Amino acid sequence: MRKFLLLLVVAILSACRPVGGTSTVIIPATATETPAPSETAQPSPSPTAIPPSPTPTDEHFAVCSPLEDETIDSLPLILVNPLVTPNAWGTDFGHPGLDFAYYQRGERLSIEGIKVYAILSGLVALTLEDHYPYGYAVVIETPLSALPESLGQTLMAGYEAVPEDLEYQYNCPNVPTPTVTGDYSLYHLYAHLGSPPVFATGDSITCGQLLGTVGSSGWSSNPHLHLETRLGPSGLEIPTMAHYQSNATVEQLGNYCLWRSSGYYQIVDPYVVLEAQP
Ligand SMILES: [Zn+2]
Repeated sequence: MRKFLLLLVVAILSACRPVGGTSTVIIPATATETPAPSETAQPSPSPTAIPPSPTPTDEHFAVCSPLEDETIDSLPLILVNPLVTPNAWGTDFGHPGLDFAYYQRGERLSIEGIKVYAILSGLVALTLEDHYPYGYAVVIETPLSALPESLGQTLMAGYEAVPEDLEYQYNCPNVPTPTVTGDYSLYHLYAHLGSPPVFATGDSITCGQLLGTVGSSGWSSNPHLHLETRLGPSGLEIPTMAHYQSNATVEQLGNYCLWRSSGYYQIVDPYVVLEAQP
């Protein structure tokens, strides 16, 4: 009888151990860990196959470098075009983001094909086909409620009143009016990717997740990543946008002007986000 009980205990203990007899414990990745970008730009597998991804409401907060083999601290070394904020609403002057590029860096001969990662967790708000000016691009929405309170306060403190009855200084037909609920989000846009985005609107994105690779699609003369961050009403509703190309539709033109020049989606210096502390 004792022998039988001993065997039973051994059998139960064995059933608790991973197959293979090792004691390796697989810890679900969370946003607080070192980001482990996935190897292919595919949407996440079914929720049953992997632990749930962090959502924008997770209490964890992390900021990730947007480029393979670069840290947030090394990004200034490859900044080739800084942020230049337009001087007035209704215009499209300036450069609303940061451009990162290089011709040779260590063993690499070009930035083309380098992986592009999400700087924050969030949800896909918009994907773009190869239109001017952004080319293949992904926009991710991160609600302010998912950011540290101090960062949210800093961002909102810089948000100016949205202008009324704005007169656009360039071709902006039928600019839509977004729904304003009082909730705000940070939007991060990754432009000029090397291939079409593989995501759908609403897909959950984790900090450090692979979004695509550096390319030169859209209005771009050399491969580079254009990283743009904006603060605006939550729930961006535009399905497409384009400008500066003759076949852009009225809808694309209007949406572009909403995003760029209406005053609803106001430019944030990406470094304010990249250098944020939990
Ligand atoms: Zn740019």
